[in-house]
Amino acid sequence: MNIAANLEQVRHRIARVATREVKLLLATKTVSAEHIRTAIDLGATLTGENKIQELSAKWPLLQDTGAEFHFIGHLQSNKIKEAVKYASCIQSVDRIDLIHQLDRRLQAEGKRIDIFLQVNTSFEPSKFGVAPEAAMQLAQEAAKYDTLKVKGLMTIGLFSAEQEKVRRCFRLLKTTAGQLQQLGLPNADFGELSMGMSGDLETAIEEGATMVRVGTAIFGQRQYADSYYWNEKGA
Ligand SMILES: *Cc1c(COP(=O)(O)O)cnc(C)c1O
Repeated sequence: MNIAANLEQVRHRIARVATREVKLLLATKTVSAEHIRTAIDLGATLTGENKIQELSAKWPLLQDTGAEFHFIGHLQSNKIKEAVKYASCIQSVDRIDLIHQLDRRLQAEGKRIDIFLQVNTSFEPSKFGVAPEAAMQLAQEAAKYDTLKVKGLMTIGLFSAEQEKVRRCFRLLKTTAGQLQQLGLPNADFGELSMGMSGDLETAIEEGATMVRVGTAIFGQRQYADSYYWNEKGA
């Protein structure tokens, strides 16, 4: 694995389709702290973990880098304390009780955190995220709390070789963000669209992604199937 060459190639892929700034977040599940550090030394500034155990294990080894740690996996209620301790942004807020629990914890710590609302745009029951039509209610709830700064929406596109179906997911996220922006909620902005991964980042950028989350194309294949991370069994 050549992280430098891979990173260069991913940056090239982004630049080829981007007409505005697109941030690159390293999706670092199962990747060692050493390999993550290599990518950070090459200029990466954003990382995202899916499991709190991995986040809390790697954070002490990498906090000196100054990189930002996002949480992009399913957040269980009993892991909120650690999530808030290590992550500066939680991209996977997908339910009202999580909003309440996050607020309670953040109040206790006197902290604020950035959040993205995770929307299920592929309508696959195996994936987390609020249904697009329920995103408004979630956004309205999140906007009530000063501890939470809503920055945008996150989605995982459909896994399919059919580009048009994948594209539809990303387009739906953009449309949903536009609708939420029009509500003019206090304390909430929907400008950030976190969408696109190793296999579909070009499509996501064409549909308005402001941040892509890339793992495999930089760090190589993982041992576990993504379903391990994305459904209830893996959570
Ligand atoms: C693993 C993961 C990614 C990156 O996927 P790759 O195909 O490895 O680039 C992006 N987002 C989330 C939520 C992930 O779990």
